Amino acid sequence: MKCPKCGAMLTPLPVGDITVDKCQSCDGIWLDHGELEKLRKTGLRDIEKTLEEQYGNPPAPMSSLDGYLRCPYCADEGLRTNYVSYMQPVKMDHCAVCFGMWLDKRELDKLLEDKQQLDAVQVEGGMKAMFAALAKRIGR
Ligand SMILES: [Zn+2]
Ligand SMILES: [Zn+2]
Repeated sequence: MKCPKCGAMLTPLPVGDITVDKCQSCDGIWLDHGELEKLRKTGLRDIEKTLEEQYGNPPAPMSSLDGYLRCPYCADEGLRTNYVSYMQPVKMDHCAVCFGMWLDKRELDKLLEDKQQLDAVQVEGGMKAMFAALAKRIGR
């Protein structure tokens, strides 16, 4: 499978029991449909950092590589750019046919961290609401 960004071959790398396809040339990561959710469920953080420590850290991609991306599975299908937003927007390019997604260097870690932050805020908010309800009941 080729990198949709720079055309280098993607390397399948294990993350827990999931296999992600990483470009060792521009450092992006391809996720098949559903893999992002699976990665989130592992609760792992700094996945990219860990992979770089284990498999090497290529130089940062040149900005000139930014352009029209093509899905590595569906060769003729252009990737569409979307912004996933939890706490802060993260750019991702996805294929409308196979629902795979391409994440540039550091976008995966950002995405996972962001979601964990949001979950923490929601839990905190839930606790506050619970205590507020409790205080009300006691005050009565
Ligand atoms: Zn690449
Ligand atoms: Zn596709």
